[in-house]
Amino acid sequence: MNTEGIVTAAYIAATILFILALGGLSNQETARRGNWYGIVGMGIALVATILGVVERHYEILLIALVIGGSIGLVLARRVQMTQMPELVAILHSLVGLAAVAVGFANFMDPSVHFEGVELTIHDIETYLGILIGAVTFSGSVIAFGKLSGRIGGKPLLLPARHWLNLGLLIAAIWFGREFVVQSAAGDGMTPLIIMTVVALLFGIHMVMAIGGADMPVVVSMLNSYSGWAASATGFMLSNDLLIVTGALVGSSGAILSYIMCRAMNRKFLNVIAGGFGTGGGTAAAGGDEDGEIVAVDASETAEMLVNAKEVMIIPGYGMAVAQAQHTVFEITKTLREKGVNVRFGIHPVAGRMPGHMNVLLAEAKVPYDIVFEMDEINDDFPDVDVSVVIGANDIVNPSAQEVPDSPIAGMPVLECWKGKTTIVLKRSMATGYAGVQNPLFFKENTRMLFGDAKDSLDEVLKAL
Ligand code: NDP
Repeated sequence: MNTEGIVTAAYIAATILFILALGGLSNQETARRGNWYGIVGMGIALVATILGVVERHYEILLIALVIGGSIGLVLARRVQMTQMPELVAILHSLVGLAAVAVGFANFMDPSVHFEGVELTIHDIETYLGILIGAVTFSGSVIAFGKLSGRIGGKPLLLPARHWLNLGLLIAAIWFGREFVVQSAAGDGMTPLIIMTVVALLFGIHMVMAIGGADMPVVVSMLNSYSGWAASATGFMLSNDLLIVTGALVGSSGAILSYIMCRAMNRKFLNVIAGGFGTGGGTAAAGGDEDGEIVAVDASETAEMLVNAKEVMIIPGYGMAVAQAQHTVFEITKTLREKGVNVRFGIHPVAGRMPGHMNVLLAEAKVPYDIVFEMDEINDDFPDVDVSVVIGANDIVNPSAQEVPDSPIAGMPVLECWKGKTTIVLKRSMATGYAGVQNPLFFKENTRMLFGDAKDSLDEVLKAL
């Protein structure tokens, strides 16, 4: 039987399914189908690789598959929706770690022996695979720490940090040359290990220097890196499927980073250079806090809502924490039955991961046709009677437009204060992820409904 031919055919089928999966994920209505394409594609890829490529040590492979698969299954079942971004970050770190491990294993015990130019090319592939893998690994571990609150959100700004980064880059290039030269003479382990340490330090330094509000870009960038690390590993192992899959992940992650940067009005290089979200701007960046806070209760909120014609719901991270999406949908249904036009305004970086709010609203079965992106509805606020901000903060902060030295300066925000009334649901006067006070809470037409969003909304629903 021509195993090679069958494996190639299976790899092509898997590649097509991965492309269909990405296409499906671009739209909420087809996302579920897209996921299935991805699952089937990965299933085919695994079976083809295990049966067609692996030749021995099946028992080790089986044990690893069972251990890895069980850990993945338990983690994915246990993880709360609010911890999803951390899970994604830690999974990226595993891709990086795998690239490093495969790189070292392949260097120490290559299955194929190359010579001359081929050896040089193979060495560069190995070097790049380990380099990108190590940066992805340490960067993702730090991102995991920041997203889970184990590491503070404030950027760590070392003196001369750009020079430090440049130094690390030059060191990586220099040791790369050393590695290729020494490898031709049958050695090369020392420069490889030194570069790995340099790359690990670079990953830590890069993510530590990034401020809270810019984390979305970093998460999508690490996603992209994990793809390129897999792709480099594919070159190293001469595995076409790994090259293509890695490139798909790498380029889609890069596009996502670009979209996130555009959504936050940031230049990609500036984000990477770090330093946004500095604590220094925090106090001053709050802007006008002289106004008074006006608190309302659930029945007053219900009254304002039934008397409105146009209602805009703005969900944020707090809705995910409170798991209030189902009650939000019940309220939406009740109001729509009473003839109120209810729409949802979604900020591209609301929550803690791309598409976070869309996932929650889809879970609660909110119809897609009343859910709008920020760009689609931001001009409509002057006609909105009541905006309901549910556990959102940074994404509705006017200081992004009004205070030039604010850590979130320049980030487009949902301009709900231009509507007639804004009701903000949150538990306290605490700041959001970027650590900036929000002048919206002090505006004349803002009302605060304090408490856990789910509890507050349950009461509103009862009052309705
Ligand atoms: P924020 O983190 O700015 O604000 C969330 C607010 O929700 C808090 O002020 C908090 O106030 C409130 N809250 C928390 N728990 C509850 C609860 N149980 N009930 C009611 N309110 C609650 O969230 P946003 O969605 O406005 O903005 C997202 C931020 O996260 C941006 O800065 C973004 O850059 C960043 N980010 C986004 C990522 C992404 O990919 N989307 C990834 C990483 C970071 P209180 O404690 O007073 O209740």
